Amino acid sequence: MADGERKGTKNKRILVTGGSGLVGRAIEQVVKEGEGQADEEWIFLSSKDADLTNAAETRALFNRHQPTHVIHLAAMVGGLFRNMKYNLDFWRKNVHINDNVLHSAHELGVTKVISCLSTCIFPDKTTYPIDETMIHSGPPHSSNFGYSYAKRMIDIQNRAYFEQHNRMFTAVIPTNVFGMYDNFNIEDGHVLPGLIHKTYLAQRNGTSLVVWGSGKPRRQFIYSLDLARLFIWVLREYKEIEPIILSVGEEDEVSIKEAAESIVAAMGFKGEVIFDTSKSDGQFKKTASNSKLRKYLPDFKFTPFSQAVKETCDWFAANYDLARK
Ligand code: NAP
Ligand code: GDP
Repeated sequence: MADGERKGTKNKRILVTGGSGLVGRAIEQVVKEGEGQADEEWIFLSSKDADLTNAAETRALFNRHQPTHVIHLAAMVGGLFRNMKYNLDFWRKNVHINDNVLHSAHELGVTKVISCLSTCIFPDKTTYPIDETMIHSGPPHSSNFGYSYAKRMIDIQNRAYFEQHNRMFTAVIPTNVFGMYDNFNIEDGHVLPGLIHKTYLAQRNGTSLVVWGSGKPRRQFIYSLDLARLFIWVLREYKEIEPIILSVGEEDEVSIKEAAESIVAAMGFKGEVIFDTSKSDGQFKKTASNSKLRKYLPDFKFTPFSQAVKETCDWFAANYDLARK
């Protein structure tokens, strides 16, 4: 089937891999709330639809859905401590998923693919702020080299598909994401969902909240619903192969201690807060510049951090039984 001659009546069939995860659910919500356009059909996938590490399953999935556009989110994802344990699995699974998705999209003549990198893939030894030109300028932090190199290779592959086949395959680079439908598993998840879950349990059990590490490392956090709105803008408007950082400003970076304090305030936790310095701090900071984003969207309003944390804590408490944990 030639490009543009797709089944269905809508002009755009947008396939979202990883549609059941934190970012995918946020895009689904934003589309449902009215950001979707009449000519767009959205299809949100989970691993139940196909195991994307498997090339044949991936190709069959793409043939079944005949997408014109792909938002590629599916990945093995985890916080610092999961990354430190499984660097090999992060590398292998993500390399296979990414190659299968990008090549199936190429074979089908998909108009545009947006993949998802992360600011944690940038060089560890660097100058700040980090910008889009620096992805390949030195080794990533040793804690997550498997994930980081697999993600960096998406950028290489996108450039090669453009050079050899004129494909519009690009990528976005979000900072630490959080929100509803996150992975709240304490061992495997990222810092905010981990601390929200720990605070919930400490409050329920009358125990202390244990924050891992010194609390000094710094992070820029983006609310999943803000990221979802930006993804939709990238899908419709962004025309570069070069990736774009999707981040709050450098001035909005907070320490892990300040992030924990926001959660404590949002949940009204009155107990003791302890820092377990026997646990790793990971990368000290990865301060990213959002000046490229700001050139395109000077007026985009990010949800204030404390409000987004409160909404996420409230969602977790209200959905404790169904939340991933
Ligand atoms: P997530 O909540 O863990 O969701 C991962 C998604 O990938 C799920 O839908 C999962 O399906 C799917 N998936 C995993 N392995 C798969 C496989 N073998 N076959 C098919 N689907 C598979 O992750 P997220 O936080 O939304 O992350 C989305 C993207 O953003 C990822 O590419 C991640 O690297 C990137 N990112 C995340 C962050 C962050 O802080 N979370 C920061 C920067 C970039 P099931 O639900 O069926 O398991
Ligand atoms: P990173 O941003 O890629 O390093 O990954 P995380 O989202 O896992 O954040 C890791 C940082 O948060 C490190 O400085 C950890 O020491 C700190 N941290 C504090 N408490 C926790 C926790 O409960 N879970 C996780 N994942 N990190 C924590």
